[in-house]
Amino acid sequence: MYRESPIIRWRRYPERYRLEGNKCAQCSKIYFPKTYLCECGSKKFLPHQLKPRGKILTYTEIKSSPEEFSEMTPYCVAIIELNEGPKITTQIADCDVSEIKIGDEVEMVFRKFLASGEEGIIHYGFKFKKVEENIVN
Ligand SMILES: [Zn+2]
Repeated sequence: MYRESPIIRWRRYPERYRLEGNKCAQCSKIYFPKTYLCECGSKKFLPHQLKPRGKILTYTEIKSSPEEFSEMTPYCVAIIELNEGPKITTQIADCDVSEIKIGDEVEMVFRKFLASGEEGIIHYGFKFKKVEENIVN
């Protein structure tokens, strides 16, 4: 189902680890990942560091994964809308898929992904986790 894992894509884009986007100098629309042509037609952008907060738009549980990630299954991958507008695909850390609801507030955390192969290389990157104070009832 997932031919290219989001995790692999993140590794290819180091700026994703830092939530580095850009902002149109004309209309102030924020983009992440960066773009070089705004929908308003402008090509002038300013660097913009996104705030590491957002909410869950949709999510799915990954029960079977490439062998490399199998020790992490099951895990949850969600589309998050960052508070400033851009949408990203990310893994949700530290929770049961049954605890996740659409609209949940999440914040970025820096996590170990996995120790790969015999060398035990550890990869780090970001995931999102639910914001604690959002858990009522
Ligand atoms: Zn613009």
